[in-house]
Amino acid sequence: MNTTAVSASRKILTRLHDVMASRSHAQAKLNTVVEVIGECLDSEVCSIYLLRESMLELYATRGLAQEAVHVTRMGVGEGLVGIIAEDAEMLNLAEAAAHSDFSYRPETGEDKFHSFAGVPIVQRERAVGVLSVQHVDPRRYEEVEIETLQTVAMVLSELISNAGLIDEEDARALGAAASGPEQLRGQTLVKGLASGQAVFHQPRITIEHVVADDTEAERQRVFHAFDKMREQIDRMAGQAEFGVGGEHEEVLQTYKMFAYDEGWARRINEAIDSGLTAEAAIERVQQHTRLRMRKIDDPLLADRMHDLEDLANRLLRIVSGQLGTAATSGLRSDAVLIARNLGPAELLEYDRRRLKGVILEEGSLTSHVVIVARAMGVPVLGRVRSLRGTVREGDQLLLDAQQGLVTVRPAQGMIDAFEGRSAKHRERQAAYAALRDVEPFTLDGTRIKVMVNAGLREDLANLSHIGADGVGLFRTEFQFLVSATLPARERQTRLYREVLDAAGDKPVVFRTLDIGGDKILPYLRHDEGDHEDNPAMGWRALRVALERKGLLKVQARALLEAAAGRELNVMFPMVSEAWEFDAAKEVFDSQIAFLKQKKKLLPEAINYGVMLEVPSLAEQLDLIGPKISFLSIGTNDLTQFLFAADRSNPKLAERYDWLSPSIMRFLGRVVKSLEGCDVDVGVCGEMGGRQLEALALIGLGIRRLSITPASVGPIKELVREIDVGQITEAMAGWLASPPENMREALTAWASDRGITFD
Ligand code: PEP
Ligand code: MG
Repeated sequence: MNTTAVSASRKILTRLHDVMASRSHAQAKLNTVVEVIGECLDSEVCSIYLLRESMLELYATRGLAQEAVHVTRMGVGEGLVGIIAEDAEMLNLAEAAAHSDFSYRPETGEDKFHSFAGVPIVQRERAVGVLSVQHVDPRRYEEVEIETLQTVAMVLSELISNAGLIDEEDARALGAAASGPEQLRGQTLVKGLASGQAVFHQPRITIEHVVADDTEAERQRVFHAFDKMREQIDRMAGQAEFGVGGEHEEVLQTYKMFAYDEGWARRINEAIDSGLTAEAAIERVQQHTRLRMRKIDDPLLADRMHDLEDLANRLLRIVSGQLGTAATSGLRSDAVLIARNLGPAELLEYDRRRLKGVILEEGSLTSHVVIVARAMGVPVLGRVRSLRGTVREGDQLLLDAQQGLVTVRPAQGMIDAFEGRSAKHRERQAAYAALRDVEPFTLDGTRIKVMVNAGLREDLANLSHIGADGVGLFRTEFQFLVSATLPARERQTRLYREVLDAAGDKPVVFRTLDIGGDKILPYLRHDEGDHEDNPAMGWRALRVALERKGLLKVQARALLEAAAGRELNVMFPMVSEAWEFDAAKEVFDSQIAFLKQKKKLLPEAINYGVMLEVPSLAEQLDLIGPKISFLSIGTNDLTQFLFAADRSNPKLAERYDWLSPSIMRFLGRVVKSLEGCDVDVGVCGEMGGRQLEALALIGLGIRRLSITPASVGPIKELVREIDVGQITEAMAGWLASPPENMREALTAWASDRGITFD
């Protein structure tokens, strides 16, 4: 805004402030508004059209025939006014009648006016009306005047909203119809189908007051909000999700650039000087930027625009004190959550009955937020570009996380087709459910153990319905992630006991705390200044536990007490060298000694195992083998370390294949080197839950898979179609001489034998 624009707007807003505060009827206020604007802009005509019953109705005018008020109506997309509402963009024309969309309305008596300018009145990013001016002289309106009209349109939006002049549903339906359906592609991170309304994890805030009472106070509010936002951005640099390089780094740099951009702050201050509140000023500047950017067709700039939108939204949330996420305000209907990215703890805050799906701009198969979603049975589509540019809050969405597709604002035919697919999907699920009590034997009689990964209290309720052989991985850190404070020993004991009760006579493998990496506990911060450049390879899991022995001691006591009189299976994560297992077991031994001394009941049997996630342990299997009962290969971490490819970096999400000869050979060697030891070898990474990958693992000699509950049915079905002898032989051949594409070779092998995949 330049100084003339500021003073023109200020003059109008000062007068509108009194109109807004008056106790008169909404219609009377609108009548006054058109007079004020007409006078101040020296415009012969000023009119307000508002959406009513899906039409734009002339609600108030100065200069056009008064008989036309509440009589003249235009469809959205019809005439100049209709075009402005449809595109939510302004028009500025020296000769209105020369525009191809001009639609002459004789009852208004507008034929003597030549020039025309109009701006949309926007609510929740949708046009709900149009404010227009007309003049006898054929002249284009100056930028100052357009700016002023846009500012006034914000005030009108508040007036309309307070007076309840617009039917929200009407506006929403119309917005959807105007934008039409669109489809976006992404990567399926958790399979499934879902439909619901789009809910933004970081909701756009609603601006309640547009015209300021005290300009100086508004300036102060923005000043403090900027301070706070800059502090937040600086702090983000120290957090794992943002500090790890790649895409996150770029985002952070852009955030920083905008957050410290004096030009941005100055424009907001100028908008405040024109009479707006802090919130309205931020939004006003943002609208202006949006319009400018819309004209530039450059995907890179569009990305940066999203970053700026994020930041403006953050600033708005700070200034208005509306700090919660969509989880804080609660989901009101079936919802599909939209976010750039999420932490696992943030996802867990949502109401699981209403959360039907998640769509992320980033995300990768093995990031923990995705693992949590998988555990919750919520389909996730990731890596969807231009997501937040296309989807608007409240849009109807059809999420097809089988085919990696989301349909935004679907037409009725699309909804019907989707319903048909959902019905088929449910049929398949029912067929899997029928396998619940069927033991998974292969065609040649090998029993494959199919266990589940769990970690949430809610997982337990499902345990008996799934038909699994037990819990092969209980991620104890989930309790810590969903808690605001460090869970006390009694709370831990209670949860573990409930897990064992729910599992009945089936085994449960408790993994000791695996925190750090992308599982950050805000209440367990590192020492100040302990920033980690590579948290996944940093101070995490057993490394934390062996240094902060108090944590492991408490957990050991909780596990031992919970399993009193029963069998206890304990597994240590991220063991890199054999001595780390010894050190961790010592902690358990000392707790056992303590409990013995106190004459407490101990578990009936304790089996210890380790996860193989760090490649170095593969070189010490002969040392550790005799000491452990079982080994579980955590392929999520193992592959990130084998390929040196961060599991949560979206840029690398599709780069390496689990069916790569490197991984196959590595796993094959691990299985071989433990032959002859009495060690039960299994896989508990995400790959075990995918049918083709599971086939390969069985071919490598793996007989125990611990997988996500939703995969139990599909994997059991697969097992019953396999001949172990044949796949073992085929796999041995491929390991010795890898095919060009292992995935294709396996698929062809399976299809030759009539094995089909879900
Ligand atoms: C793994 O790394 O494969 C694993 C199962 O552990 P998490 O995914 O919890 O790191
Ligand atoms: Mg792991």
